[in-house]
Amino acid sequence: MAANDRTFIVFLGPPGSGKGTQARILEQKLGLPQVATGDLFRYNLKNQTELGLLARKYMDAGELVPDEVTVRMVEERLAREDCARGAILDGFPRSLPQAVALDEMLAPYGGVTVVPLFQVDDDVVVERISGRRVCRNCGAVYHVKFNPPKQEGICDVCGGELYQRDDDRPETVKNRLYVYYKHTAPLIGYYFARGLLAEIDANQPVADVTAALEAVLAERGIQV
Ligand code: ADP
Ligand code: AMP
Repeated sequence: MAANDRTFIVFLGPPGSGKGTQARILEQKLGLPQVATGDLFRYNLKNQTELGLLARKYMDAGELVPDEVTVRMVEERLAREDCARGAILDGFPRSLPQAVALDEMLAPYGGVTVVPLFQVDDDVVVERISGRRVCRNCGAVYHVKFNPPKQEGICDVCGGELYQRDDDRPETVKNRLYVYYKHTAPLIGYYFARGLLAEIDANQPVADVTAALEAVLAERGIQV
């Protein structure tokens, strides 16, 4: 591996397929930060920044935030010191222009390393999203049935309050899935053609998905 090669893992899959859950598990194990564009937008929204206020109307409608804005945010995030060895990209890219921009960004570092595709049935997605609860403070993700906190409504990690994301309500979820199929699913072909795609059965329980992910990473020489 060349000295400037870094490891960039791109998690691809519909909303609610478990990307964030797995990214949080793997970031500990791999020592690579999770870069989740949805989390970055929510952080900006919470802090009422200009970016957060701009993103809000798109997020509320389940639409994509415009590519230029999203790409700039990711560029700034990847330039930070903690990404010096790479990152786990969760929720980016979500459109072809974003994928092309990412390739340009990563060209000096050997490009994208691998793209695990989280394959999950639509009815599973709907069940997972409807029960998702997120910590207002640290962003830890729970599920009322599949991954409940020890104490209802309270984060196990930091004691923060758990809430349901506004865009996890049924009206918005439908559009987010539509947007996934229209704008993001074409990336499956994009990465397949480049030999980077690794399909994962994400219908399984969390630990089994982690094992499947670790297996495809090992095949690419990324040891957990
Ligand atoms: P994404 O980041 O892809 O939107 P999340 O990681 O937030 O998805 O997961 C969506 C919901 O499903 C969360 O409530 C999470 O606790 C739950 N979840 C994640 N992975 C699994 C799994 N393998 N089995 C059951 N529930 C899961
Ligand atoms: P997520 O937390 O990944 O489910 O993302 C929540 C919302 O943030 C999405 O529905 C979009 O409105 C916005 N968003 C997240 N990532 C992107 C992206 N890569 N491009 C455009 N919009 C995004």
